[in-house]
Amino acid sequence: MQQDSLLDHALVRLDEAAAHLDIDPDVIEKLKYARETTKVRLMIRMDDGSRKSFLAWRCRYDDTRGPTKGGIRFHAESTADEVETLAFWMTFKCAVMNLPYGGGKGAVQVDPRKLSKAELERLSRAYMQAFARIIGPDRDIPAPDVYTNSMIMGWMADEYAQIFGQAEPAVITGKPIALGGSLGRGDATARGGYYLVRHLADDLGLSKTMRVAMQGFGNAGQHIARLLAADGHKIVAVSDSEGAVISDAGLHIDLLMEAKENGQSVVSTAGQGGHETLAPDEVAGVDCDLLVPAALENMIHEDNAGSVKAKLVLELANGPVTAEADRILAANGTVILPDILANAGGVTVSYFEWVQNKQGFYWTIEDIHNRLRAIMEREGRAVWNVSREKGITMRTAAYVHALSRLAEAIEAHGTQSFFTS
Ligand code: GLU
Repeated sequence: MQQDSLLDHALVRLDEAAAHLDIDPDVIEKLKYARETTKVRLMIRMDDGSRKSFLAWRCRYDDTRGPTKGGIRFHAESTADEVETLAFWMTFKCAVMNLPYGGGKGAVQVDPRKLSKAELERLSRAYMQAFARIIGPDRDIPAPDVYTNSMIMGWMADEYAQIFGQAEPAVITGKPIALGGSLGRGDATARGGYYLVRHLADDLGLSKTMRVAMQGFGNAGQHIARLLAADGHKIVAVSDSEGAVISDAGLHIDLLMEAKENGQSVVSTAGQGGHETLAPDEVAGVDCDLLVPAALENMIHEDNAGSVKAKLVLELANGPVTAEADRILAANGTVILPDILANAGGVTVSYFEWVQNKQGFYWTIEDIHNRLRAIMEREGRAVWNVSREKGITMRTAAYVHALSRLAEAIEAHGTQSFFTS
């Protein structure tokens, strides 16, 4: 029997949301398939003179609400199915936040940690060469994702400018400030989640001094740890791809950050400041108030969901909780602030970057923070209200909120353009 794809699992959430809305079934049919997914084999020269090839994809899932938007991931286990699923989530994420975008995503199947800086630059430029005619400032706008960063976005923006003979900063977001990047893009994913938790703290009955456990300590993880610790919350456990550390008295964020800056795992801090090692898969079950999955998909699943003690899960990663785990957590009274809302701060500040590039006028960091906070609070409150009114989880409410916007746009385009838009 053929195994269900990641996209099949993601579509369960679409069906759940559709049951709460009176919408044309054609809308659901349209949202079940990616509009286009392009696969390319990138061939680059390695430092030793040999040639090596890497599979790469770009998916434009749905562009009814605007140009497709979404990051490019460099990961050894990326697949076409993963890229399409991530692009599906971007479609809903942009709709939840009311950004004038559809959803897209890209990936290269590579472990970038095994490449030299020069090889990484050649690979990034090769990606842009391969997809330059799919990408465009009003067509499809990439950004960073897992294991990609502003340096890589800068190389890609430069390659695009070389291909078309002029700089076009709005073609990609998450760029270095010197190339038209926005202030505040670096910590935007974490900051958006942080504003959301702060805004709903009273409704959720959160304590002023929460115990926090985190799966993943990359860009989003490091920034949320810093923001929460500055408010007096205690980070008690953290994992990364190589291991985990725990401290009942609270981990020292500075030690963890220093390890990461030196290219080491959080585990290298064990033995210092009361940090002790922990098996990474035990982080989910640590005694805490808030659990923050901030790494990859499916980290909380059928087999570990029952061990979760946190009353709140903040999904900074995309798709970290499986549909089966959702049901277990809901039955245990755990509230999930879902990815398409909780981690949407990143794409929201990407939108600010794109707007600033188009208008050629740049905002202050205060402008960025105030605008981000206002949107997180507005859409977070709207999702909260849908969830209370309909008696449904925050995840289903976020999908309902997004789906009603998508349906309105799909219907406004007219039935004749359903499959050609
Ligand atoms: N990769 C991020 C996400 O999954 C950001 C996408 C963007 O800024 O376009 O939301």
